[in-house]
Amino acid sequence: MNDDKRTILVRYDEIGLKGRNRKYFEKALLKNIKRALPSDSAIEYRIPRGRILIDLSSEIAEKYGDCLQNIPGIASYSIGVSIDPDFDQMAELGIQWIEPLLIGKDQLNFCVRTRRSEKTFPKTSTEINFEVGSRIMSKLGPKGLNVDIKNSDFTLEIEIGENEILIFHNREPGLCGLPVGSSGNILCMLSGGIDSPVAAYLMACRGCRVHFVFFDNQPFLGRGGYEKVKKLAKIINGYQGRAKLFVVPFQDIQMSIRDHCKEENRIVLYRRMMYRIADKIAKDQEMPGLVTGESLGQVASQTLENLAAVTCVTTMNILRPLIGMNKESIIKLARKIGTYDVSVEPQPDCCSVFMPANPSTRGKIHLLEYDEKKIPLEQLEEEALKNMETMKVDFL
Ligand code: ATP
Ligand code: MG
Repeated sequence: MNDDKRTILVRYDEIGLKGRNRKYFEKALLKNIKRALPSDSAIEYRIPRGRILIDLSSEIAEKYGDCLQNIPGIASYSIGVSIDPDFDQMAELGIQWIEPLLIGKDQLNFCVRTRRSEKTFPKTSTEINFEVGSRIMSKLGPKGLNVDIKNSDFTLEIEIGENEILIFHNREPGLCGLPVGSSGNILCMLSGGIDSPVAAYLMACRGCRVHFVFFDNQPFLGRGGYEKVKKLAKIINGYQGRAKLFVVPFQDIQMSIRDHCKEENRIVLYRRMMYRIADKIAKDQEMPGLVTGESLGQVASQTLENLAAVTCVTTMNILRPLIGMNKESIIKLARKIGTYDVSVEPQPDCCSVFMPANPSTRGKIHLLEYDEKKIPLEQLEEEALKNMETMKVDFL
């Protein structure tokens, strides 16, 4: 056993199930892990079957492990010690870990769990559990240690691999899902509210690299929204990296709709314009999907009829991961991923200053199209795209 060295054992989530594509997903995950961990020439990466192993020094193991908690595609990880095939040594290490936990306690339940991917090892998993467990019990049983497989407070785990044996006692949960990049690039309409960052995060966990578009009406509102969206994009980008943020000036479009179109149609008309422009950006950037934070029935613009009235302006995949979620669970997730506090910073939102008193909940498409004839739609769209600002979120 080398006390200065640790091996982090990374378990994947669904990648293990992907059959012949597994290599592709593993590669994507490994790339993301290397990107997220500080670069260090003393770290080594290995991919034995079904696992990623990271060899590094004991001082940095914990800190580097923490970084793995924010990478989609990882089910869990453990910080392990590489050990000789010697039951006395394994038990000794177990005793070292368990003994301090018994101080001031009458009883502690424990068990040993072995997983053997190398079947040529001369003992079965059950035999190994017994060999190591009984050695530990003979030393710590009199001090209150108890074997309990179902209700263990401490699980000593042993993994018998092809070339080495790892021993550990911690399993830290990961985000699960698929590695970012494995499902391609998509464009999220990010508004500065609570919902859209959560929608972006969920799609990142489905293997998408999520880029962002924000429709900005800054001359009326100051640039509060702009700063907020940059902060939100940065937080979500922390889970994936390499995102782009497109900021589209929206004030002329909103004014034109406000001045020429029917008041009750305004919101759906703003949103049809957002969808049209997002569609153009996504196509130009070869991103085959749009993501929004819409949730059925949440507000007037999110009835089935109004969702249909915005969807029909594009041929894109429209991804709405929050569609069936209630606000409470969305907020819970926003807190967990770290976007909630930024989202609730005060900011008059893009649509609310132009809100009609009675927004229509059943936008009839032919009436919307009729209304749109009153504005120079293509020209407005072109102008907005021409003045769009593009930034790399990694450098914000
Ligand atoms: P959020 O949904 O982010 O909390 P919200 O509920 O105020 O904000 P809505 O007006 O309900 O937003 O819009 C629904 C969805 O439309 C948002 O989740 C977002 O995807 C998109 N959206 C709305 N306004 C903008 C904007 N100014 N820029 C980009 N996307 C927007
Ligand atoms: Mg919303």
